[in-house]
Amino acid sequence: MSSRQTFVIAGASLAGAKAAETLRQEGFEGRVVLVGEEAVRPYERPPLSKAYLRGEVGFDVAAVHGEGFYEENDVELLSSTTVRSVDPGAKKVVLDPGGELGYDELLLCTGATPRRLSNPGSDLAGIHYLRSLSSCDALRDALAEASKLVVVGGGWIGSEVAASARQMGKEVALVEAAAVPLERVLGAEVGAMFRDLHAEHGVELHLGVGVDGFGGRGRAEEVVLADGTVVAGDLFVVGVGVTARTELTQGTGIAVDNGIVVDEYLSSATPGIWAAGDVANAYHPVFERHIRLEHWSAALNQGPVAAKNMLGQRVAYAKVPYFFSDQYDLGMEYSGFATSWDQVVYRGDKERREVIVFWLDKGTVVAGMNVNVWDVTDDIAALVETRRPVDPGRLADPSVELSAL
Ligand code: NAP
Repeated sequence: MSSRQTFVIAGASLAGAKAAETLRQEGFEGRVVLVGEEAVRPYERPPLSKAYLRGEVGFDVAAVHGEGFYEENDVELLSSTTVRSVDPGAKKVVLDPGGELGYDELLLCTGATPRRLSNPGSDLAGIHYLRSLSSCDALRDALAEASKLVVVGGGWIGSEVAASARQMGKEVALVEAAAVPLERVLGAEVGAMFRDLHAEHGVELHLGVGVDGFGGRGRAEEVVLADGTVVAGDLFVVGVGVTARTELTQGTGIAVDNGIVVDEYLSSATPGIWAAGDVANAYHPVFERHIRLEHWSAALNQGPVAAKNMLGQRVAYAKVPYFFSDQYDLGMEYSGFATSWDQVVYRGDKERREVIVFWLDKGTVVAGMNVNVWDVTDDIAALVETRRPVDPGRLADPSVELSAL
């Protein structure tokens, strides 16, 4: 391999930083250029809705690498810089605020951006979105001054921010259009566990109702719901999902369909262009379909796989999707990918929230979630991976080892 090669990584994200690290670990001696729009070095997002938001840990806990890592490993970290456009024909990228960079291989780790509400009053001051470190810092400062937070969206951001704010002693209201929080991923039955959790911790829940708009003089003071209910607050957070940041592909011919379409090797159909993390809609060999995973573990693990493949290896990304969440005293891990199921099986004590939940489709485990039960992730992932029908009775029976299933 020529040491004069240049590998460019667009997006100094977790996926991008792990890819850069892997390139060096694998002995790549060429240029590694990691381009990131933020001023800080790459960091992980999970603490931004949890311990970092609550002021319990500092940036070093979130940072992917120590401060000296990039220089020590000869990774050119171009902070406060964005890749503005890609020219796959000439194999170069144009940078903002200026300059061009030729590449031999290009990895796109541009992530996702929060979906914004467009209801009347959505632009009022005091309405926050949480994604970047700077948006988290702004929210943290505002939270310190606030007495009542209103969260719009009961997905992962909404649920975790609501829990954090309650843990900080703030009054919290949560508005969610579905009947229960996290309904899309967990379903109505399991989502109810999280509804009850938040209710028990004093969150004022407004479920099954959408938002009409925000009101306030100069800054948001209330959110008006579709049923006419007015929920007052002095701080608002919106977490209504994200969209993949695929702008760079415009005019390049790189296929986009709910993210950048890549194969199991994270390669796009355009030679020399790869994608990893939230932006990548990657073919998953276990589920035999393309999946775009908006979670920490995909960024963590896809970055290295993409890097190895950029070096000419053939490593398929076949890891069972995984994510975790912490809300109050509830810790959970989810392994699998369930968009539809016909049976939910519980192993353990659902009422005490010490339970493993399995989602089954035609007798096959498509996902499992351990709630305040630990060290079972590998077994759950193995069950998902086998795609073989299991006996629901044995699945529910704690006396049967998961590994025996
Ligand atoms: P999300 O988890 O996709 O949840 C968005 C929620 O907002 C959904 O419940 C959605 O309901 C609801 N919603 C959509 N439009 C709405 C509206 N107009 N009014 C009220 N509710 C509305 O997205 P997120 O919470 O914004 O999180 C952003 C990203 O960060 C996601 O990719 C998420 O996976 C990731 N994240 C992950 C973790 C973790 O893994 N622990 C933690 C934080 C963030 P419908 O589903 O019915 O549309």
